[in-house]
Amino acid sequence: MAVVAGLYSCNGQPATSEGTKYIMVIHGGAGTIEKGLMTAEKEKAYTDALTAALQAGYHLLKEGRSSLDAVQAAINVMEDSPLFNAGKGAVFTHDGKNELDASVMDGQTLKAGAVAGVTNIRNPVNAARAVMEKSEHVMMVGRGAEQFAAANGCDTVPPSYFFTQERWDQLQRTIREEEKGRAAYNDFNPRDSKIYGVTERDKKFGTVGAVALDKNNNLAAGTSTGGMTNKRYGRVGDSPIIGAGTYCNNATAGISCTGWGEYYIRSVAAHRMSSLIELKHLPVEDAAKQVIAEIGEMGGDGGIIGLDRSGKVAMEFNTSGMYRGTVDESGNISVYIYK
Ligand code: ASP
Repeated sequence: MAVVAGLYSCNGQPATSEGTKYIMVIHGGAGTIEKGLMTAEKEKAYTDALTAALQAGYHLLKEGRSSLDAVQAAINVMEDSPLFNAGKGAVFTHDGKNELDASVMDGQTLKAGAVAGVTNIRNPVNAARAVMEKSEHVMMVGRGAEQFAAANGCDTVPPSYFFTQERWDQLQRTIREEEKGRAAYNDFNPRDSKIYGVTERDKKFGTVGAVALDKNNNLAAGTSTGGMTNKRYGRVGDSPIIGAGTYCNNATAGISCTGWGEYYIRSVAAHRMSSLIELKHLPVEDAAKQVIAEIGEMGGDGGIIGLDRSGKVAMEFNTSGMYRGTVDESGNISVYIYK
């Protein structure tokens, strides 16, 4: 398996040599991710983590396992890594808690599962899959979701498991910024991206997502997140909302989003991308470009990844960077960070 670290690629896209068939694409969040703000060690840590996630998915796909298994395995690697805003390393709410959201969708059956606001499930994407496969529901929240996940074999952890000093310090900086007279929470202006008090430096969304294509030519997609730093009042973003943060349909593409969730919900971003493929017959990459352009026009920012059944991939974003990567059917891995 060859690993090509495309860290310095100019356009941040995989070398789309004609006929290359990608079988998995992942993201680890978009945001203010600039070379000048990154140390060599951090860059390597992200590259290694993205590579490990792609390898986990690739090995399963190669064995003939389902795209759902591959998506779950890749997301689990990133949930377990403190580098990403999902599972361990999730951002903190205003009250100093970690409330996690996740979703999955199966492109063959259009079945989907999601959990929101869970505080003690080690891998929220596993709980989302349990909702999809072991209940007649699509979405469960809070305590009920936790009880269901635990009863269906998902690992539980004490809430303190999710703590990282870096995310805690980020919350303290954010609260200080907010108190310095930025938009009061109740003076909500949807075009004012400073609502959470998040500074440019801290604006790394860090959500994780994956889309895979298996040997049976079925797609699956999933997304997992801690949400937005300083969120409150039980705020839920796009990541667990089917159609907003995640969507998957064999007829169009598998899609996972990261970014300012309110904009992704209002633009129904993942489903919008699927609709552009279905109704306007746009290639997956053009559909992704259009969705990100529309989110930008609304005042939002972030990224989106997609993969269709022919193995065509999209990784678009309107921030300075997005942790992302692909693996093709020969096992060639490429990871990218900057624009
Ligand atoms: N989209 C996520 C949310 O709004 C945040 C992220 O992408 O990191 O909850």
